[in-house]
Amino acid sequence: MSANYFWPTLAAPLLNGIALLLALGFRRNRAFMILAIMTCAALGLAGFGSALLAERGIEAFRMFAPCLLLAAAVMPERRLLAKRNLLLLGLLALAIVLTLSAPAHVWPGLRDAFPLGWLPWRSGSVAAGIVFAAALVCVLRWAVLRSPMEAALALMLLFVAIALLPMTRKAGASEFLAISGALAIAAILFASYRMAFVDGLAGLPNRRALDEELARLSGNFALAMVDVDHFKKFNDQHGHAAGDRALKAVADQLRTTRGANAYRYGGEEFCLLFTGLRVAQASDTCEDLRQRIAAMRVPIRVGVGRKDAQAGKRKDSGAVKITVSIGLAERADDLRVPSEVLKAADKALYAAKAKGRNRVISR
Ligand code: GH3
Ligand code: MG
Ligand code: MG
Repeated sequence: MSANYFWPTLAAPLLNGIALLLALGFRRNRAFMILAIMTCAALGLAGFGSALLAERGIEAFRMFAPCLLLAAAVMPERRLLAKRNLLLLGLLALAIVLTLSAPAHVWPGLRDAFPLGWLPWRSGSVAAGIVFAAALVCVLRWAVLRSPMEAALALMLLFVAIALLPMTRKAGASEFLAISGALAIAAILFASYRMAFVDGLAGLPNRRALDEELARLSGNFALAMVDVDHFKKFNDQHGHAAGDRALKAVADQLRTTRGANAYRYGGEEFCLLFTGLRVAQASDTCEDLRQRIAAMRVPIRVGVGRKDAQAGKRKDSGAVKITVSIGLAERADDLRVPSEVLKAADKALYAAKAKGRNRVISR
């Protein structure tokens, strides 16, 4: 086995296997199912000195992997041991058993039957077409869910489809599977990083990300705590879904605030970090943000919230305004540690609430 041939045949099962373990650890069950199929295919292609796999590896890949991958792609994200997942894993096990133990006179018959015997599957083009369809399913899911993991799965399956194409040599197939496995590792790590540091609802970095940023800070900075006014009442009146939309709209305004990094601190509280700036420079920006939010209108459906339901209002659409209060503080001689600046900004926020809300107060 030449060195050129050797590395992809080893790298493909190794990279897909690592991605498989990561998917298991981070509970990405759909990705786990797809990677289980890919790892088995990569192991089959590698052969590891088995004369049987040297002969059947690429054929088994083209016979069994496409339909299994398409089934895994269309399945919803469910717990690992859900019936559908177990069924798919059972079919994968059956494919492995058939590849390893089908008698020599049965294998050609099987080969002609999978995946669609009457089509010229042996050329690999039908197999590639099926996996290409699986990639399209992931593209559609990505368009709806906007999940980066779906985009990565689509790209991975595209490489698998290329690996299956008739013109791709056996070593080439392993190379494409290796690339696909490496992509899976990167995608799962990236998705997990996002889960740890980015707030899913607001799409802003979360409090953990802020804590890490504050720990790295040196020099001047100003910090604004932003809190939505009477938000409990808003939820009660218009429903939790409208509340979520309002938070998202507020987050969008914070994200587009120039000269500051925005974070979701928790609940209906946000934070703006002005690195290298002082309160005097940041307060105009905060005032502008306050006004932009007060001018917004959040779409609501009347009759969805508890209060509206009690008042017997029917479901209808409308738009309501929301306001925020902002407390601003900066690093100073008596506030050297970021946590002290944060506390001072919180105190200023409390003062803004006490003075009637919808205002900016600087320490
Ligand atoms: P104040 O003006 O004094 O800040 O009053 P408030 O009602 O905004 O403050 P309070 O802390 O009493 O209530 C905060 C509310 O924010 C309660 C909670 O249900 C709501 N909330 C927190 N996180 C979310 C969320 O992710 N979505 C929705 N819809 N509501 C949330
Ligand atoms: Mg509030
Ligand atoms: Mg609050």
